[in-house]
This record gives sequence, structure tokens and C-alpha cells, in this order.
Amino acid sequence: MQFDYTPNVRLMQQRLLAFFDEHIYPNEARYLEEIRTNRQAGNAWVPTRVIEELKPLARKAGLWNLFLPRSTRAPEGLTNLEYAPLCEIMGRVPWSPEVFNCSAPDTGNMETLERYATEALKDRWLEPLLHGEIRSAFLMTEPAVASSDATNIACRIERDGDHYVVNGTKWWSSGAGDPRCKVYIVMGKTDPDAPRHAQQSMIVVPADTPGITVKRFLPVYGYDDAPHGHMEIELRDVRVLASNLLLGEGRGFEIAQGRLGPGRIHHCMRSIGAAERALELMCTRSLERVAFGKPLGEHGVTQERIAQARCEIEMTRLLTLKAAYMMDTVGNKAARAEIAMIKVVAPNMALKVIDWAIQLHGAAGVSDDFPLAYAWANQRTLRLADGPDEVHRNAIARLELARYRRTRSA
Ligand SMILES: Cc1cc2nc3c(=O)[nH]c(=O)nc-3n(C[C@H](O)[C@H](O)[C@H](O)COP(=O)(O)OP(=O)(O)OC[C@H]3O[C@@H](n4cnc5c(N)ncnc54)[C@H](O)[C@@H]3O)c2cc1C
Repeated sequence: MQFDYTPNVRLMQQRLLAFFDEHIYPNEARYLEEIRTNRQAGNAWVPTRVIEELKPLARKAGLWNLFLPRSTRAPEGLTNLEYAPLCEIMGRVPWSPEVFNCSAPDTGNMETLERYATEALKDRWLEPLLHGEIRSAFLMTEPAVASSDATNIACRIERDGDHYVVNGTKWWSSGAGDPRCKVYIVMGKTDPDAPRHAQQSMIVVPADTPGITVKRFLPVYGYDDAPHGHMEIELRDVRVLASNLLLGEGRGFEIAQGRLGPGRIHHCMRSIGAAERALELMCTRSLERVAFGKPLGEHGVTQERIAQARCEIEMTRLLTLKAAYMMDTVGNKAARAEIAMIKVVAPNMALKVIDWAIQLHGAAGVSDDFPLAYAWANQRTLRLADGPDEVHRNAIARLELARYRRTRSA
């Protein structure tokens, strides 16, 4: 296994870090202030000026669509291994990925369209997404069923002549609060009588189709995540052209596998960046603040936590790079154990490091004067989103036990 960053990746890393120093960190307070002002004025669900101002600068700097694997529409695309250190940097500031057109769920949706959509659908939806002109949402999870088991998804997608008719209620549809969110990828059942894993399909649904109602946003530990948001959406007799169905009826799981692998590893890369930022803040503060006669950094417990944080970040990064390397070389299916492992390890590691950083900051750590409280809330959701920890651990254990079952039967 070769994890060394190529000269090109090192160059992009430097360029991205410089961009952060020049444009992202200095705008952190402005971003929060802009949303606060919009909220006070009665509408937080509008795009921020700061991100719109920074997007052209990122494009000009060649820091655009970095997530996209090499393809006909993205000849400059990167491998997962090449993207890992860049995505990690973006994890340092939660809103920053959008500046580079690398934010979830658009990245997963763009990859889905790139892999599974017709050329006509790509022209209609992928192109504006690649240009950062519109945004998108992925509608799988439903309030009425345990959605960690995707075979439970009950939304109906029924054929009617040249159309499909979609009926269901979705929630936690991230990004659907943004007025620029123009398209949804919806998962639902085309054939409830088919074998369990052949019942579900995915269909591209324009957000302005009659019958769609965005009912409310769901806060995360009190954060509304505006203007992005996590929305509950009702779909009632929503008619969509039959050609909007991706890949074919009953192939939803196949698409989900293709989509979720990269999506999960991107989350993990950003978790490492969030942990690095927390450790950086922790170290800086520990040298500045004095308690009981010495800087906090000279108390044994702080040193213990700083050392453990460094160990765990490095371990997580190596596992993430291994998963990325395997996805690039043997494919997402063969890398499924490694993807599941990092999906458990990375958010849990980041939560621990961020919690230590909050503790070291005292009461300031839970306020919005530092980015730690929001970072913790954000990371906590990753133990649920894209599959809860337990489901990934089950998958890891199943694969592990299968090896022993094979040996015994041999
Ligand atoms: C911030 C955020 C953003 C999200 N964004 C999106 C999005 O854009 N699109 C979308 O479709 N969904 C999204 N989700 C939803 C997310 O993917 C689901 O919450 C997740 O899949 C779990 O489904 P559920 O909430 O129905 O939990 P349930 O399926 O009800 O599970 C509840 C709990 O049961 C336990 N459990 C489940 N299965 C097992 C098992 N096999 N063994 C042991 N314990 C188990 C776990 O502890 C789990 O947390 C988002 C969620 C959050 C919090």
C-alpha cells in the first residue's frame, strides 16, 4: 500500500491551506453573523453572501469539484486517496466545503448522477450542480420506519404510463431548506412484492414538482443549520417522467452502495479535520491560560489528552487512507469492511477529541465564541447519518465471522 501524497496533491494541499488562511478563517465570524442577521430579520433560509463571494475565488484558484472521481465530465478529477488530505482540510470549518463545491449531499448526488443517470438527466441536473448554480437533496429516511434498515423504506414509486407517481413522507432531507435546492434523488418502492433487496428504486424529482411540500426543519441540538437545513418533506401524487428513474426498477440498493461508500469516507475525512482543529485550539489555549500556578498545558491530564488525541487522529487518518486506497484499487465493494470501520472510528474519535478541547476551554467551550460546540453537535450526527454505528459494527462482525465460517466448513 502506497499512501504517500503525490507532488500534485501536496501542491493542492498548500494552495487549499493558503486559501483557508486568506479567505475561510477570516470569514468565520462574518458567516455566523450573516446567518444571525438573516434569522433576526425573519428568514435564515437564504444563501449567504460570504459563500457566494468566495466560490468564484475558489474556482479561480483551481480548488473546485475536487471530490469528483476522474470521469468524462471531470477529466481533472481526483482519486479517493488524492482527495483525502484535501477533504480533511475542509473539515476544519463546517461551512467551507460549499465554497469549493464539495459539500454533502451535493457531492453524493453528483456522483450518483455521474454514475447512473442518462446523458439527458446529466445535462439537466449534473451540469448546474457541477457549476455550483443549484443544490440538491437525498430523500431516503422516513419518520414512520426504522430507516437504518433501508429495506423498510415505504415511499411508493408507481408506474403510470410515461410517468412514475411518488407518494411518501421523508425527513432529515439535508440541504432541502436552501432555496437553491432544485432537485431531489428519492428512494422508494417500485415493487413491494419483489425480493427484499429488489423492491427499492431511486428517481430524480425536480423540487418544484406539484405535490411536494417542505413541511418543517429539524434542528440538531438546537442548531437549525440554515440555510442548508434538514427538512421533513411530504410527497403526494408527485408525477415524474419515467425516464427520471435511475438505472432501472429494483436497483436502488445497487445505487445506494455506489453512493454511500464515497459519501461515508468524505464524512470521515472531514471528521479528521474537525479533530485536528480541536486539538490545535486545545494546544493553543493550554499554553495561554494559567490555573493553579501553571499553564493548563503543564497539568498532567492535559498532556495525557493531547498525546492521546494525537495518537488517535494519526490512527484514524491511516485507516481512512487505507480505505481510500482500497476503494481506488479494488473497488467500493471489496473495501466495504474498511469503509464501515472508518465510519465507526472517525466520528467517535473526533467527538472524543472535541470534547477534550471543550473541557479545556471551560465554559467558553460550549459557547459560540469558539467553533467547538457546533463541531461536536455536527460530529455527533455522524454516528447516525449514513448508517448508525451499530449497523456498521454488525457489518464488520459479519465479515469477520464469515472468514471463520469458511474455515470451519472447509
Ligand atoms: C444531521 C442528519 C442529517 C441527515 N441527512 C440525511 C439525508 O440527507 N438524507 C436521508 O435520507 N437521511 C438523512 N439522515 C438520516 C439518517 O441517515 C438516519 O437517521 C439513519 O439512517 C438512521 O435511521 P433512523 O433515524 O430511522 O434510525 P432507526 O433505524 O430508527 O434506528 C435507531 C437506532 O436503532 C439502533 N439500531 C438500528 N439498527 C440496529 C442494529 N442492526 N443493531 C443494533 N442497533 C441498531 C441504532 O442505535 C440506531 O441509531 C440524516 C440524519 C441526521 C441526524
